[in-house]
Order: sequence, then C-alpha cells, then structure tokens
Amino acid sequence: VFNFAAGPATLPENVLLRAQSELYNWRGSGMSVMEMSHRGKEFLSIIQKAESDLRTLLAIPPEYSVLFLQGGATTQFAAIPLNLVSSDDTADYIVTGSWGDKAFKEAQKFCKPKVIWSGKSEKYTKIPSFHDLDQNPDAGFLHICANETIHGVEFKDYPTPKNKNGILIADMSSNFCSKPVDVSKFGVIYAGAQKNVGPSGVTIVIIRKDLIGNAQGVTPVMLDYKIHDENNSLYNTPPCYGIYMCGLVFEDLLEQGGLKEVEKKNKRKGELLYNAIDESNGFYRCPVDKSVRSLMNVPFTLEKSELEAEFIKEAAKEKMVQLKGHRSVGGMRASIYNAMPLAGVEKLVAFMKDFQARHA
Ligand code: PLP
Repeated sequence: VFNFAAGPATLPENVLLRAQSELYNWRGSGMSVMEMSHRGKEFLSIIQKAESDLRTLLAIPPEYSVLFLQGGATTQFAAIPLNLVSSDDTADYIVTGSWGDKAFKEAQKFCKPKVIWSGKSEKYTKIPSFHDLDQNPDAGFLHICANETIHGVEFKDYPTPKNKNGILIADMSSNFCSKPVDVSKFGVIYAGAQKNVGPSGVTIVIIRKDLIGNAQGVTPVMLDYKIHDENNSLYNTPPCYGIYMCGLVFEDLLEQGGLKEVEKKNKRKGELLYNAIDESNGFYRCPVDKSVRSLMNVPFTLEKSELEAEFIKEAAKEKMVQLKGHRSVGGMRASIYNAMPLAGVEKLVAFMKDFQARHA
C-alpha cells in the first residue's frame, strides 16, 4: 500500500522493520524501549544519539538548543508568545494558510499579535513578496508557517525579520528535514514529528539559546523552554518511544546521504506529480502559485468535481490510500513526505493518466 496521508504519515519501511526487530529486547538490554526508565543509561543513550544525529542533519549551530517535547505543534502556538514576548508586546504573523492562522489566533491570548499579510482572500495559494511586507519594527518576532500542510503552499526562501530583535520563527511541522535549512536564520524552528521524522507525540523545538529564560510569569511549567532546556528534555517523562523512533529516522536520513540527497529525491517526486497535473489539459488542477508549490503536500482538484469520490475510491482499490483532501478544502491531497518512495508517486501518476483517459 502507498499511504499518502498528511500525518501521521508513512514511515520508511526499513525503520519500521528495525523497530520491530528491537521491540522486545533493545540491543541486549532485555527491555523494550517502552519499558525503560527515561533516566536509565539505555534511554539516555537513545535521546543523546537522536539529538546528535539531528544536529548533524541540519548542521545546527552550538548556540542552539534542541528540545524533544509533547503537545504537538499546536502547543507551540502558545509557547512561542509565552516564552518570547510579554503580554503587552506585539508580534508579526504572515498567514499563508490554516496553520499560520491558528498560530496567530492562539497568540492573541498571550500577546498582541498582528497579521501583516494574509493569503486568505486568494484562498491561500500564494506567498507574499518580501519587499512588500509591512513589518513592525517594535514586534517581538516574525512568525511564518514554512509549509502549509492543508493548502500546499511552501516558502522557498525566508523573509528577513525587521523587528527589534531580528527574530524569525517557523512552524516547520510538515517540511521538517525534507531539505537543508540554514538554522542560523531562525530564532525558533518547531515541528511535530508525525510527518517526516516519526510518530505523533514528539514535538521538536530548535531554539537560539539567548532566547531562553524570559517566559511570562503565567507560563505553565510544561511550556517553559528554560525548564526543558535545563533538564535536557527530561524534566518530566518524555515521549520515550517516539523519540526512539525519531532517532531511527534520523539515522536513516544520514545513511541516505543527508538532507541534500533527501531534497533531490523530494524534488524529483514533486516534479513528476505537478507535471502530471499541469499536463492534463485542465482535467486535474492545482490552484497554488507554481513558484511556491509544496514538495510535501500536493492538493489538486478535478475539473469534473463530481468524479472526485470515484477517483479516491478507485485509487484505494489500487492500494493508494488517504488521498482525500482536507475537510476544509475538499478535492484531493497527495502528501509525499520523505518516506514516500518514487515508485509510489509513479504509480499515482500512472493511475491519474489512466483515470483521465477513461473519464475525459
Ligand atoms: N502546523 C502544521 C503545519 C501542521 O501540519 C499541523 C498538523 O498537521 C500542526 C501545526 C498541528 O500539529 P499537531 O497536531 O502536532 O498539534
């Protein structure tokens, strides 16, 4: 089966088989990773290796901390303003889709954020031109969603923050580790693991160390970066098994040759699928501006929308599942994260051509 789900999503088969082989007895310890104390030497070696491999993959500079947290990216929507600004401060949000919008709305509870650009009136199909952005020099940070999972809009480059502290923050949940990123451009990068790097339940935060330690007084202990940083993500019981799985994925990405190689594969898959859509004479349509189409989530519709349910049903019969678009936008969405093999996209494209030939 080729699984095109948006997350939780398909994971590399070799990673799952490795986890299976270690399930009852992790490397001769006599314990499953699920049974280990998070303070024992076995788990400490797992979390330290996961962090060190992630640092290698993304070339994370030493002045950044890596935190393995819980609560999903949704919890970070609150943690970001709580840790970085006071309740009277303002912050700039660029809203290029539903997730950026949710981040902004949550921030309204903890500071005075402002949307400086929204793609809503154009149905979230664009990224703004950075020159035209009206950034507030007094803002505490500039927030973006690097890849909008529902709308399929991806930043290919990043705006220079022009706020007082020069801080750019990115929700990278759905394109984390899909390509190299210059971490030094960001104050904070955060991502739920469940698309590209593991199961749900782990949220990764990469934060510049000098931004830690200024949380608002009301910040719950579980949302305070300082607490997690001082305790190496072990203040309370972390999502141990999920962190272990992320570690296996990081090892696999390194074995593939790192993120440059991973990006090449992702570009090839994306090109194949977008070309199939664009060369269908309008039978299939992708509304997103060509220059900012996501390499991870490919939304498309059928000119004859009444055929969409049939498309999804027939694809499932051919063992291509989870192609239904998000309930808020309809149509189809093929999520083609790192772990989706080229063969999966080739099969989908062949099916699309055959479906068109039968229904055009
Ligand atoms: N941000 C983006 C870009 C997402 O795709 C998602 C979930 O799909 C979220 C945030 C919310 O993540 P979580 O469900 O882990 O809280």
